[in-house]
Amino acid sequence: MIKQQTTNPPHYVYPVDEWKIIENRYYPQFLAGTETLFALSNGYLGLRGCFEEGAPIEQDGTFVNAFYESWPIVYGEEAYGFAKTGQTIVNVPNSKIIKLYIDDEPFSLRFANLLNYTRTLNMKAGTLDRELLWETPAGKRVLIKSRRLVSLSHRHLAAISYQVTVLNAPAPVVISSEVMYRHDLPDTNGDPRKARDFPERPLHPEKHYGPTGNDQRVILSHATRRSRMTIACGIDHTLETACSYSCTSESTDDSGKVVYSIDASPGESILLTKYMTYHTSGTAPADELCLRAERTLDRAVEHGIADLLDSQQLYLHNFWQRSDIEIGGEPTVQQDIRFNLFQLCQATARAEGAGVPAKGLTGQAYEGHYFWDGEIYVLPFLTYTTPRIAKNLLKFRHSKLPQARQRARDLDQRGALFPWRTINGEEASAYYAAGTAQYHINADIIYALRKYVAVTGDTEFLHETGAELLVETARMWSDLGFYSERMGGKFCIHGVTGPDEYTTVVNNNTFTNLMARENLWYASQTVAALREDKPERYAVLVDKTGLDFEEVAEWQAAADQMHVAYDTTLGIHSQDEHFLEREPWDFSNTPADKYPLLLHYHPLVIYRHQLIKQADVVLTMFLLGHEFTLEQKKRNFDYYDPLTTGDSSLSASVQSIAASEIGYADKAYAYFRYAALMDLANVRGNVQDGVHLASIGGTWMALVYGFGGMRDQGGHLSFSPRLPAQWERLKFPLMIQGMSLVVDIQQESVTYLLRRGSSVNISHQGEEVQLTVGVPCTRPLS
Ligand code: BGC
Repeated sequence: MIKQQTTNPPHYVYPVDEWKIIENRYYPQFLAGTETLFALSNGYLGLRGCFEEGAPIEQDGTFVNAFYESWPIVYGEEAYGFAKTGQTIVNVPNSKIIKLYIDDEPFSLRFANLLNYTRTLNMKAGTLDRELLWETPAGKRVLIKSRRLVSLSHRHLAAISYQVTVLNAPAPVVISSEVMYRHDLPDTNGDPRKARDFPERPLHPEKHYGPTGNDQRVILSHATRRSRMTIACGIDHTLETACSYSCTSESTDDSGKVVYSIDASPGESILLTKYMTYHTSGTAPADELCLRAERTLDRAVEHGIADLLDSQQLYLHNFWQRSDIEIGGEPTVQQDIRFNLFQLCQATARAEGAGVPAKGLTGQAYEGHYFWDGEIYVLPFLTYTTPRIAKNLLKFRHSKLPQARQRARDLDQRGALFPWRTINGEEASAYYAAGTAQYHINADIIYALRKYVAVTGDTEFLHETGAELLVETARMWSDLGFYSERMGGKFCIHGVTGPDEYTTVVNNNTFTNLMARENLWYASQTVAALREDKPERYAVLVDKTGLDFEEVAEWQAAADQMHVAYDTTLGIHSQDEHFLEREPWDFSNTPADKYPLLLHYHPLVIYRHQLIKQADVVLTMFLLGHEFTLEQKKRNFDYYDPLTTGDSSLSASVQSIAASEIGYADKAYAYFRYAALMDLANVRGNVQDGVHLASIGGTWMALVYGFGGMRDQGGHLSFSPRLPAQWERLKFPLMIQGMSLVVDIQQESVTYLLRRGSSVNISHQGEEVQLTVGVPCTRPLS
């Protein structure tokens, strides 16, 4: 059930264009939202889509993935083992400021008489472009064209070209290009999803310098006080014009500027190109980062922005080749789909050695933390389109095993327990009931690992890296659960929170138990096979983990005996042992403005009712579809769907997939639209805080798994497509075992084409089909 409704249809604001998001009027009322929608990022560096001139502005933001400050979590009432240290991504120096003065009057969008205006996010070129014509009060017409990019090929680099032409008169023009660190307190308004305030500035100046033989370059460096991270940010410029000009520059601890004074002649263009670089480290001193910044700028200036634009286009050309999803018949939906895919690219492309924050790098909400969103919602897309990045993200989790082992010890468990939310690998959730208690994070990581290995065939990675994760997570589960006599000797897992955060610290959450069971089975099979087939590798694993082979039998037994809460009267899975005993919620008397409920009711009120924040059993039915019959899926959906508030953006995509499978075509489509429009239409009213990356990944899943009807048990692909009646086709590429497959679904038939590779077996509506490279195979759709 959708309790919150779409506010603005986006195509009223952004005209339909399949490759662009265009704003062809300046809309002050949408400013905060467009700062998110027009944000540019490469997964390492993110710039919110604020204007170069620095104003008007709602929430400025420049973020570097994993660059955070830590702070002591203060509890009113402490308890043993509570997370002690919070982590928050830092809003770092803003390098995109370019202020413009004509006749010494500042250009400000807020007051300017604009004769025309367009701002375009170009998803093929990877740029944010703005073109406007301003008439000054003195009647001078000034054409301003800017183009901005955060390079996908050069991880540390962003650039802006800013072109000014006074069309009809001579004028003194001043362009002040700046970099500035300012500590603003974010306005959280009591919303726990937003980033916390730092009462004191998190960044402290280390070193700054302006002209050193190059009078157009400024470098600033800072360090965080507690997390002891360093950052250097540098800007450099070139100016191209036939007009005469002079240039000065200066720097202070927190700012730097390069100022051009130009005698503009009518119709003569002034083109400023600005290069911006960021380098960060947890170990290197600021001096070293300044040198790195210098080198990046040297190279950028030498090659010029045309080179950057070309490499950006090429990167995106390749991205779209492996990731584009085409539909026919609804160009508006095509635009939404591409916007979502583009966000996936931006959030992950260069997230090397780090995770994917819940908002990507488009906003500070959720503090730049990594949750299960990455493994369950984003990794499927990456695994099937860019497995190298999926592998990097799994490696990142593996690199945090030491902290996860420590966390398990803190919680009196064996093995490793990954943090519910984190940047540096330590648990940063201050609310254990909806945080640390989500033990399922362990199984989510293993689920993503398993899919990655099955789809890519990368058993090398499984043995080298994955096996250690498997041992430590399986240990945690077998230690956490117990054999309950009251439950007929079944293996039970108590005191956990499943995905649904509206019921917490429950017994035998169905999602958790079934996902843990997969984790345990996969661990025991992998380790047993390793011992048998690769004894030397097995020996290394034993050395790293202190494994005793008898443990493997324990994991197997726990999995085999896992309790699954099922209500025989209703014929449905119970979300947890006692969910069905809770009091029903009076939905009919809950006004729309009370959603999301978490902002209007005490947790205790929520927890004692049959209220669901986000898909839980329904998500299990998708992830582990083979555990449920079709009838069970239908009964479960019918029961849980009306209780699901949609207060989390992680629901709609999953509800769409489930609805597709059980034949509820209208619901499947409605939920899909809700997920796909989450950000463009500001469905949940909080797009200003950043995009909803899980819903974005979920949109890909709703297309491929939902309408495409793909299932991938053990790496074998099967398809039972269900194309929405409104669409002519649904066409998507997939990488499997290093081969490239294109699935082209139309209303009457499906064509499968292996465009690279040798051959592969798939199943189409239950029929086994062998595909050979280069030979399209068309099958009718029944
Ligand atoms: C959801 C979590 C999710 C987090 C970050 C919360 O509202 O309940 O499942 O991981 O947001 O997206």
